[in-house]
Amino acid sequence: NVVVLGSINADIILKLARLPKPGETMKLQGFETAGGGKGANQAIAAARSSSEVHFVGRVGADAYGKMMCELLQKDGINIEHIKTDANNPTGQAYILLQDSGENSILVNSGANVFIQEEDVKDARYLIEKADVIVAQFEVPINRIIEAFKMARAAGVSTILNPAPATKVPDKLLELTDLITPNEVEAEMLTDIHVDNPISQRNAARMLQAKGVKNVILTLGSEGAYYLTENNQEQAVPAFKVKAIDTTGAGDTFIGCLAAKLNPNFDNISQAVHYANKASSLTVQKIGAIPSIPTEKEVTRR
Ligand code: ADP
Repeated sequence: NVVVLGSINADIILKLARLPKPGETMKLQGFETAGGGKGANQAIAAARSSSEVHFVGRVGADAYGKMMCELLQKDGINIEHIKTDANNPTGQAYILLQDSGENSILVNSGANVFIQEEDVKDARYLIEKADVIVAQFEVPINRIIEAFKMARAAGVSTILNPAPATKVPDKLLELTDLITPNEVEAEMLTDIHVDNPISQRNAARMLQAKGVKNVILTLGSEGAYYLTENNQEQAVPAFKVKAIDTTGAGDTFIGCLAAKLNPNFDNISQAVHYANKASSLTVQKIGAIPSIPTEKEVTRR
C-alpha cells in the first residue's frame, strides 16, 4: 500500500478571452471547478492502478475541502489522516485559461502549507506499515523530511517528486530511494541542462552522488529515462499519441509508479513502462483527475 503526503487543491478554471488590463473589468466566458493538487492527483492515479492508498494532508473547513475529500473517497482513498484546518482555507489554484490556449495560474496554498509535525507523527503507524511513501513540494519540506525519516527507519521506500521545481536540502536527498524530476526540475537540482542522453545520465549520476538511490527522469513527449542503484539504465520512449492537454501527465506517471513498483524496486523497468503507458493516456484527455486512467484502461491494448 501507498501513503501520499501531499497537497489537495480545488482548481478553479476561469475561461477568458484574454487577460484583463490593469483597472479593467471583464466578463468570464466560463467557470468550472475541478479537483487538483499534485498529492491528490498522484493518490488518485495510484488508486486507479489498484493500490490501497492512504492520504496525509490538510484541507480547510470549507466547501472545497468537503468536495475534495469526497472526490478522493470516490476513488477508494483512505482520508482518515486528512485534517481539517480551522484557520486556513483549502488550497486553491485559479487557472486563467485564455482563448489562445495559454494558461496563467495563481495558487493560494492554504491549508497545504500548514501541515504540522504532529500530523506526520499521528500517521506514523500508517507510514511504518506502508510499502512506499510519496511526497511532492506543495507541502512543507520539513514535513517530508520527518516522514521520510520514519519511513527509512522502518524499511519503507521513499519516492520524492521534486515538483514544483525548487532547490532541495541534501539531507532530504539522502533519505530518498527514488527521485522523479522532469527536465526543468532536474536542471534546478543539478545545474545540468537535460536535453540528450549524456546530460540525462550526468544529471542522474549527480543526484546519486548527492545521496539519492534511484533516479527516473520524466521527459515529456520523449518518455522517460532511469538509472538504478546498481547502475541499470534505460531510455523508455513515449507512446506516439496526439497530446491534447498534458495536465496531470507527471502526476499520473508518479502515482502509477508508486502503485506498481515492488518495495525493493526490482521491477523498475516494468513499472516505468506501465507509468509511461498510463500517462500517454492522460495527455489525450482534458483536465487532470478526469483523464487519469484505470489499470484496466492502461493494460487494455
Ligand atoms: P510533468 O507533467 O511533470 O512536466 P512530463 O511532461 O515529463 O511531466 O510528463 C510525464 C510523462 O507523461 C512522460 O514521462 C511521458 O511518459 C508522458 N507524456 C508527457 N507528454 C507526452 C506526450 N506528448 N506524448 C506521450 N506521452 C507523454
